[in-house]
Amino acid sequence: MNAYIEAVLEKVKKRDAHEPEFLQTVEEVLRSLETVVSQHPEYEKAGLLERLTEPERTIEFRVSWVDDAGKVRVNRGFRVQFNSAIGPYKGGLRLHPTVNASVIKFLGFEQTFKNSLTGLPMGGAKGGSDFDPKGKSDMEVMRFCQSFMFELARHIGPDTDVPAGDIGVGAREIGYMFGTYKKIVNRFDGGVLTGKSLAFGGSLARAQATGYGLCYFAKESLMLQRNESFDGKTVVISGSGNVAQYAAEKCALLGGKVVAMSDSAGFIYDPNGINLEVLMDIKQVRRERIKVYADEVPGSVYSEGCRNIWRVKCDIAMPCASQNEMDEADAGELIKNGCMAVFEGANMPLTPEAIDTVVGSGLLYSPGKASNAGGVATSGLEMTQNSMRLSWTFQEVDDKLHGIMQNIFRACYEASDACGKPGNLMVGANVAGFLKVADAMLAQGIV
Ligand code: NDP
Repeated sequence: MNAYIEAVLEKVKKRDAHEPEFLQTVEEVLRSLETVVSQHPEYEKAGLLERLTEPERTIEFRVSWVDDAGKVRVNRGFRVQFNSAIGPYKGGLRLHPTVNASVIKFLGFEQTFKNSLTGLPMGGAKGGSDFDPKGKSDMEVMRFCQSFMFELARHIGPDTDVPAGDIGVGAREIGYMFGTYKKIVNRFDGGVLTGKSLAFGGSLARAQATGYGLCYFAKESLMLQRNESFDGKTVVISGSGNVAQYAAEKCALLGGKVVAMSDSAGFIYDPNGINLEVLMDIKQVRRERIKVYADEVPGSVYSEGCRNIWRVKCDIAMPCASQNEMDEADAGELIKNGCMAVFEGANMPLTPEAIDTVVGSGLLYSPGKASNAGGVATSGLEMTQNSMRLSWTFQEVDDKLHGIMQNIFRACYEASDACGKPGNLMVGANVAGFLKVADAMLAQGIV
């Protein structure tokens, strides 16, 4: 291993020892960069890896709000502005009880490379809070979002930092945050948030973009690396949120059959293929648990324990829920049952051991930072439409998304080849994402 990489890793591990998710992603990325770092001694002279692994700015703040019973509640808010070398900070906001500094730093670090891969001028950031939207009333969610934005507003702007949705943040939450931001700055800065509703500057196909983009990427991988397609394949998708729902929809459109989906409590199995009309009504309209599906769709069953979803026999697995949701044993189950590909829709859903097992067994594997980049790419297209003060049709946005995902696949594949690891898309994604950011950082001096 390259001595410079080892030294930086050592330093990060010592300084951020209490941040396991962040260390996990830094280790994965830096270890992939061995070939390019060895070829470029100027990186070490410029302290490039030390700067790359330290966020440009970390903001942590109190979010106080009042619940429906009149009780004062206090949550912790975060925004990590990781890297602005190639454009304004850009990345989602996550509302989930597991959110902490380590989780937000890992997501912000990943976002830097993902945004670079899209080919659009966007830096990396991430934010959120340990607020749990589950079980909260609409008014409670609104009061939380308003309080969150009272602080966040001073740190963001259309040319500074542009947040979007992530786990627990959809069009409803973005709407409440946008309304508050507008009131504070007294300006209609449409481009300050993406994932907006269509009524005030949102983009058609943004809701679908991450899931659809994942399938476009998977389609390229299946075709170019295996001469295969989705047609007739059995697919298992974890999660049942934004990414999972639209990944399932596009899989079905491409000829695949999605037989299982999950939430954090358990999973449903439907041998006839998940009925997405029912599922989307349960999740988007009624905001209920996935369990309800089995009560309503004959022939389907619900089982407790979300991890057991990986025991369902399938050709293609798409983890679309959360980080480290598939470990080595889960990957082993998939392989035992004849699975041929694992395409990541979530951020870092596989543990490092699971990745080794999947790649070592010769399955196709795509890292989330490449295959889920369609969401942020379409957020970039939303920003473009806001600046131009016009809206593209669904087809126009979807065509652009398709082209971007094909380009990302090609960039990852070519970079993997150039590093002597043809087809290793994890190495390819990290290298291709890194090189552009590194060039920009070198050109801008020590800042
Ligand atoms: P949503 O909030 O819409 O859905 C999240 C889904 O994952 C829910 O079904 C949720 O179940 C489940 N889930 C969450 N945490 C866990 C957990 N610890 N274990 C098991 N299941 C869990 O989020 P998204 O669909 O937007 O995001 C899913 C993943 O995709 C995340 O990793 C996110 O960072 C990533 N991503 C999202 C993008 C986007 O555009 N939205 C873009 C790129 C990446 P429950 O309801 O029980 O909590």
